[in-house]
Amino acid sequence: MAKEVLECSFCGRKKPETNLLIAGIDAHICDRCIEQAHGIVIEEIKQTGKSELLSDLVLHKPREIKAFLDDYVIGQDQTKRVMSVAVYNHYKRLMQKPSEDDVEIEKSNILMVGRTGTGKTLVAKTIARMLNVPLAIVDATVLTEAGYVGEDVESILTRLLQAADYDVEKAERGIVFIDEIDKIARKSDNPSITRDVSGEGVQQALLKLLEGTVVNVPPKGGRKHPDQKFVEVNTQNILFIAGGAFDGIERVISKRLNHQAVGYSSSINTDNVDKENLLQYIIPKDVKDFGLIPEIIGRLPVLTHMDPLDAATLRSILTEPKNALVKQYKKLFEMDDVALEVEEGALEFIVSKALEYKLGARGLRSLCEAILTDAMFDLPGSEDKTLLVTKEYAEQSLNKNLLQRLKAVS
Ligand code: ADP
Repeated sequence: MAKEVLECSFCGRKKPETNLLIAGIDAHICDRCIEQAHGIVIEEIKQTGKSELLSDLVLHKPREIKAFLDDYVIGQDQTKRVMSVAVYNHYKRLMQKPSEDDVEIEKSNILMVGRTGTGKTLVAKTIARMLNVPLAIVDATVLTEAGYVGEDVESILTRLLQAADYDVEKAERGIVFIDEIDKIARKSDNPSITRDVSGEGVQQALLKLLEGTVVNVPPKGGRKHPDQKFVEVNTQNILFIAGGAFDGIERVISKRLNHQAVGYSSSINTDNVDKENLLQYIIPKDVKDFGLIPEIIGRLPVLTHMDPLDAATLRSILTEPKNALVKQYKKLFEMDDVALEVEEGALEFIVSKALEYKLGARGLRSLCEAILTDAMFDLPGSEDKTLLVTKEYAEQSLNKNLLQRLKAVS
């Protein structure tokens, strides 16, 4: 009996006519039919409005968002909770169907206040990764009013478009993290600034974006490409997260707390105030007193703070997050069949140096790098298959390598 030639059960093409024929229980399907079926699914999703993105989002309840953040961000519990709820509500809002009761859920953009290196960007990045939405990280200090030297506020959306591979629909559900928002605070008490190029004007320009508007975005950005066609981007469903160190805002908070404490209806006992972490008492009025215009604050309704990183937190950051530094170095050495072991004493030494030089979590990497560079140079290809980093080893390598340089920049 002649051997039966397999064929696609959908289009009837014989196996030799296809690039690929996949077998099911009682049927076969060829590559072309798979592609066609995929197209139909996408079309169907578009028509019913059940995009993959949105149906995915239903699954992420605040507790799940928080648990995901816990895997990457150490401490910062209050921020993680607040962010989880804000992000959840934001995407609930996206899924809201036009209803008869006219209850329109408003946007929940977020303002994060905390020293640099405490994890603000990390939180934004982690959330974007979890939701699988594009993320643009922009620095508010480069933004200027249109017409001045610097970047127009629209450039923020150019970045987001780029992060979304120019898929406008995807970009319109993305996240924008605006770093150093405090640097565009009004500088009215600074006599050297005659024209407020970077301050209030930029805040005004940002307002519309935060609120939700349709913006003509130059897809390549900047004024270097005058011929490019503009792309319309609606910012209504873009989640904006603004972050800043707000250096000196502690003084504003402390002043207010003292003031409240002597008021008639005082409910505050200043003895209980944790002076090491005044940021935890922050309220929108403090941000206003710092110099952000009330309209901006109103459009960043979720206000949260980042705790300073103490020794215990820094110690955890070294080993606990899913992609913790020590895990990363272990992996690097593993690729050369070298087993890396870092003793507790060495970890504590690294933390103490990071604290001493006020390098925060950002410094942990440069410290590790300095300690391990020699070993990373020498061990590959050598006979040694283990590396034990003791406190003494860490101290010696650091002294040899980076300490002098770190001292110079701290
Ligand atoms: P910020 O935006 O507040 O200046 P980043 O998020 O950029 O700080 O943090 C810098 C680096 O420090 C991150 O890449 C991360 O490795 C580490 N880091 C900072 N804070 C934390 C934290 N709470 N948990 C884990 N890692 C952290």
